[in-house]
Amino acid sequence: PMTQPVSSQNHAPTISLQVELGERSYPIEIGSSLLGDRERIARLISGRQVAVVTNTTVAPLYLQRLTQTLQEAGKSVLEIILPDGEEEKNWASLMQIFDRLLAAKCDRKTTLIALGGGVIGDLTGFAASAYMRGIPFVQIPTTLLAQVDSSVGGKTGINHPLGKNMIGAFYQPQAVIADTLTLHTLPDRELSAGLAEVIKYGAVIDAAFFKWIEDNIDKLMARDNAALAYAIRRSCELKADVVRQDEREGGLRAILNFGHTFGHAIESGLGYGKWLHGEAVGCGMVMAADLSHRLGHITAIDKERLCALVRAAGLPTEAPNLGVQRWLELMQVDKKNEGGQIRFILMKPLGSYLISAAPQDALLATIQQLASG
Ligand code: NAD
Ligand code: MG
Repeated sequence: PMTQPVSSQNHAPTISLQVELGERSYPIEIGSSLLGDRERIARLISGRQVAVVTNTTVAPLYLQRLTQTLQEAGKSVLEIILPDGEEEKNWASLMQIFDRLLAAKCDRKTTLIALGGGVIGDLTGFAASAYMRGIPFVQIPTTLLAQVDSSVGGKTGINHPLGKNMIGAFYQPQAVIADTLTLHTLPDRELSAGLAEVIKYGAVIDAAFFKWIEDNIDKLMARDNAALAYAIRRSCELKADVVRQDEREGGLRAILNFGHTFGHAIESGLGYGKWLHGEAVGCGMVMAADLSHRLGHITAIDKERLCALVRAAGLPTEAPNLGVQRWLELMQVDKKNEGGQIRFILMKPLGSYLISAAPQDALLATIQQLASG
């Protein structure tokens, strides 16, 4: 038989884009097999000494490969492997990173590399912001959520027993390197959770991208490399553009919280960890679309499109029944609130946003409609 042509999807060219933040600007590079790309790694990661922070799940999958590439690029590598889990995004893990860096006499020229999902990225970025008052930092995100969301924008930090992400800093990386091949080992639920944030960008910033996601959701669910690379690219472009305009969350950046007001209520109402963040956001977007429709901002057809896409991404579209009173309480504590009013990110129309309070009766109707099962 004839030789099969090499699958084109593994040869999608690497995409490079720039987050424009003046002297803090940095590149995001997206492609397959980047962990083994010595020239690229050498170009994007400065200094001779690097420390890679990862966890016990990601280390056996990708650490050896990255370390080998770094060594081939002439770098000396310290490996720091932390336990896996959101509950490890804490002060003790931060201290472990500092202990290892100090014991190895890492100086201010050491580059700290985050290899993992958003937990490792947030923790490592915060460590980099504080170690010797700030050392170079590179993100190598390995979950879809980290590749489309948490690795871009410079928010870093840890959890406090009294609140998630309460201790942190804005600290931009020197580069983000997203290798789409790492997504092939991601559990299905984590892939879907990342897709929630991808859908979010389309829903409130870019109607054409929303349409593209609808047309390509099957490919994305099948982890087609070219489709994933495009979804990551467009998501990063859209997030980078918002961050460029509002680096420190003074206003516009709030639109990235579409679906999150309802989503946070689900997460804390059920107890963190029951639903993944992306699952809560997926369902939260369905609720926000329902509210947008009730207020006359989107058509019934567009509300249905959002709901169908969330479902096709493997995400829940019906919220838990927490009781109306509890729902309202949980949403009152949302960080965006000013003067006691809940500020919602709404679609107006699909592909664009409106930030506004909502009349109580419309909100109650949405909760009764979607959270009474
Ligand atoms: P995560 O980091 O916990 O990763 C999810 C799971 O996947 C973990 O068990 C992890 O070990 C595993 N994993 C990672 N890469 C893998 C791979 N390639 N193959 C198999 N398993 C893999 O979760 P996440 O969803 O990536 O990130 C969530 C965190 O990100 C939260 O702490 C959240 O607060 C934070 N976050 C930060 C920002 C920001 O702007 N900084 C934005 C959104 C979320
Ligand atoms: Mg989110």
